[in-house]
Amino acid sequence: MNRLAAALMCACLTLPAAAIAQEAQRGEVTAAAAALQAKVVDWRRDIHQHPELSNRETRTAAKVAEHLRGLGLEPRTGIAHHGVTAVLKGGRPGPRLALRADMDALPVTEETGLPFASQVTDTYRGQTTGVMHACGHDAHTAILMGVAEALVGMREQLAGEILFVFQPAEEGAPEGEEGGAGLMLKEGVFADFKPDAVFGLHVFSTLNANQIGVRAGPTMAASDRFGMTVVGRQTHGSRPWGGVDPIVAAAQIINQSQTIVSRQMDISKQPVVVTFGAINGGIRYNIIPDSVELVGTIRTFDEDMRADVFKRLTSIAEHVAAANGATVETQIPAEDGNPVTFNNEALTERMRASLQAASGAEPVVDMPLIMGAEDFSLYAREVPGLFFFVGATPVGQDAGTAPSNHSPKFDVDESALDLGLRAMLQATLDYLDTPAG
Ligand SMILES: [Zn+2]
Ligand SMILES: [Zn+2]
Repeated sequence: MNRLAAALMCACLTLPAAAIAQEAQRGEVTAAAAALQAKVVDWRRDIHQHPELSNRETRTAAKVAEHLRGLGLEPRTGIAHHGVTAVLKGGRPGPRLALRADMDALPVTEETGLPFASQVTDTYRGQTTGVMHACGHDAHTAILMGVAEALVGMREQLAGEILFVFQPAEEGAPEGEEGGAGLMLKEGVFADFKPDAVFGLHVFSTLNANQIGVRAGPTMAASDRFGMTVVGRQTHGSRPWGGVDPIVAAAQIINQSQTIVSRQMDISKQPVVVTFGAINGGIRYNIIPDSVELVGTIRTFDEDMRADVFKRLTSIAEHVAAANGATVETQIPAEDGNPVTFNNEALTERMRASLQAASGAEPVVDMPLIMGAEDFSLYAREVPGLFFFVGATPVGQDAGTAPSNHSPKFDVDESALDLGLRAMLQATLDYLDTPAG
C-alpha cells in the first residue's frame, strides 16, 4: 500500500464522516507558502545559528523588527525587554486576532551536527554554557515572520486586524529578572489592542513533521515551583536528643507528600505531579544541621486542584515538621507560575477544520495532556486561546523515540516550517472571515 492510500484509509477509519468532507486549503495559503518557503527556512537557520538566552534576545528582536518594518508595518520594540509587536489592519472590518511566537533559546550545548548548528556560548547562573534553540522557538519566530509577510500581501482583502506578538523569555527570565508573557501583559501588550482570540503553535518532537496536533480544554500543565526550609536545632551527630534533626523531618515530609497524588487528589479528574528536585542540608557526617532546604515542582490541569495541592503540601510540611519538633518555612508556590494552557473549546472545535485543511490527508492528532508548561497560558487566560502542535521529527523516523524538545540533539525537520506556516495562515484567514461561526 502506498503512503497516500494508507493515510486516506487511516483518515476514513479515524474521522467521523462529516470531517472527511473537509475544507480544502485556501488557494492563497498554498501560493503564499510556496513563495515564502525558502525565506522561512533561511530565517530559521540564521536564528538557529544565533540563539539568545531568555531576556537577551537583542539580535533576534532586531531581525524581527527590521523584517516588520520592511513589510511597511510599524513595530513597537522593547516590550518586556526585547518583545516586538506590530498591528496589521485589513482592508475590511472584522475581528481582532493576536498571533504569538516566542524567540528565546536555552542553556544547552548543541549536538545536532547541523551545518548551521550553534557555536554560541553565554553565561547562565554564573557558568559558561552553550546556547541552543533546543525548544524550536527559532522555528516559531521564522514561521510568524512568514505569516506576517503573507498577510501583508493580502492586506486589502483581509477582514479585521492582526497583532503580531514576538515574545522573549518564554523559558523563564533569569533569576532576579522579570520576563516573558507575564511581563508582556503587564507592559500592556493587550491594553491598546484587546484581541478577540489568540493563536500560537509549538513544534514538538513527539509528532512527525507532516502532523498537526491539538486538544480542546486543558492542554499543557500549570507549573509551580515550591520551596521549603525545615528548621531544627543543630547538634552533634552522636547526640541527636540534644537537638532537633531537620534531615529526618525533611525525609518524612518528602514521603508524606507522595500521598497527595496517590491518596488525596481525585486523579480520575485530572493528573497531578508533585516532584522534589533538590535537597540541601548538612555539611559533615557527624553534625546534625540546623536546617534543610527542599525545592520542587507541582504540575496540575485544573485551577481548583492547583490551589488544593498548594494547601495540602503546606499542611503536610507544617504538621510533619511539628510532629518532629521542627518548624518549616514554606513558599508554595515560590513565585507566580504558569497557569494551565487552556484551549477554548468552541474555538478549538471550530479551528480544527482549518488545521485539517493544512495537514491534508494526514488526520489532525488528538494530543494527550502534556505535563510541560507554556506561558502562552497567560494570554489564553485573558482571551480565548488556541495553541496547537506541529511535528518536528522527520517523516519515517519514530517520533516516540526522537530527541525531545530541550535535548541537545533536538532538531526541527524543515518541512515543519511549511506546515506550520500553512496551518497558522489557514486558521487566521478562516477565523477572520467567520469569527462567530
Ligand atoms: Zn521549552
Ligand atoms: Zn517552547
